[in-house]
Amino acid sequence: MIPAFEREPYLRELEVEVTGVAEDDAGPYAVLSDTVLYPEGGGQPADHGYLGALRVIAVQRVDSEIRHYLENAAVTGSATLTLDWKRRFDHMQQHTAQHLITAIAADVFGWETTSFHLGVRSSDIELAIGSIADTDLVSLEERAATVIHEARAVTSRRAAPEELASGAIRSRGLPEGHEGDVRLVEIAGIDCNTCGGTHVETTAEIGAIKLLGTESMRGGTRLRWVAGTRVRALLAAHETRAASLREIFETSDEEVLQVVDSKLARLKQAERQIKRLRAELAEETARRLESSEGAIVEAHFDGADARFLQSIARQMTALRTSRAGLLTATSDSGSFFVLYRGTGFELDLETIGARLATLLDGRGGGSAELFQGKAGSLERRPEAVSLLKEAIGHRSR
Ligand SMILES: [Zn+2]
Repeated sequence: MIPAFEREPYLRELEVEVTGVAEDDAGPYAVLSDTVLYPEGGGQPADHGYLGALRVIAVQRVDSEIRHYLENAAVTGSATLTLDWKRRFDHMQQHTAQHLITAIAADVFGWETTSFHLGVRSSDIELAIGSIADTDLVSLEERAATVIHEARAVTSRRAAPEELASGAIRSRGLPEGHEGDVRLVEIAGIDCNTCGGTHVETTAEIGAIKLLGTESMRGGTRLRWVAGTRVRALLAAHETRAASLREIFETSDEEVLQVVDSKLARLKQAERQIKRLRAELAEETARRLESSEGAIVEAHFDGADARFLQSIARQMTALRTSRAGLLTATSDSGSFFVLYRGTGFELDLETIGARLATLLDGRGGGSAELFQGKAGSLERRPEAVSLLKEAIGHRSR
């Protein structure tokens, strides 16, 4: 029997008999005497709806039966099957748009469609062509708009498989093991195609098609688009975003890109300047610390990060420091410590570093001359300084 979704694609509700209930890996399901719910196939996702009060969350064709997967198990008997019409009509718009795009792509440009995917946000087809020029995309979109305005009838009928051989029918091939007659979907004067999906009744109901772009893949080209109600939804999302950008950058749509470009250029310049100033600051700080009194060098920097500590330690090495030092810093990204020693200064940094890390509730690692890490807390920093002084005291004895 031809199911109701194919006989009457606009039917939103149907009294049915639940003829079987069972469960498989995908969950509990019901098999019905008839259905207005399209099972996933041919690039079109499954319909959603309700069987009585139970939500239908997926519909799959398994062998000869159509399984309606439910949030909870159903019972056999009579029930009202309701279609989530908003979702379905959206699918009908996207799917009919696909027929139209495929037909124009093949007949006008000679690009064959090799696959179709109806996505949650946008849909796409794969075309057997390496790349598509922007001007061709514009032309394709305009031709589609013309056919939409012409409100051409979209009809379906069953035909004998032999009719396929006539050559006038477009087909991406029948499902494996297909037997019996085939379903043909026709856009008057434009296209005749084998298809089991659901479609709008005239091209006018597609509303609009907006091509979004292409990407190359496996020697072909993927073409993305939105159709129908999605065009307005996408435009609304773009407009909301554009309004925010206008506000943030205090400019108009026409000038926002230029403003962002120049702000990014200035940001890059400022970052280069900060980098240079930081290096200068590290050099200056290192000089100041090196001239300080004491057996070791120790300093803490608020608002500095691990990189800043490293550059000071590197400067110290460049200054051929004769002492060891402990530097700590605290910034938004956490607390850090760096332990270093001058060249030729004998100190087992790895052992002391590990002990310091434990003391500061952190961890770290490094080389023979520099040990660095992230500190969990700098509360016991004075003890860490003492520990380092003590180690140096032992060394000189
Ligand atoms: Zn179709």
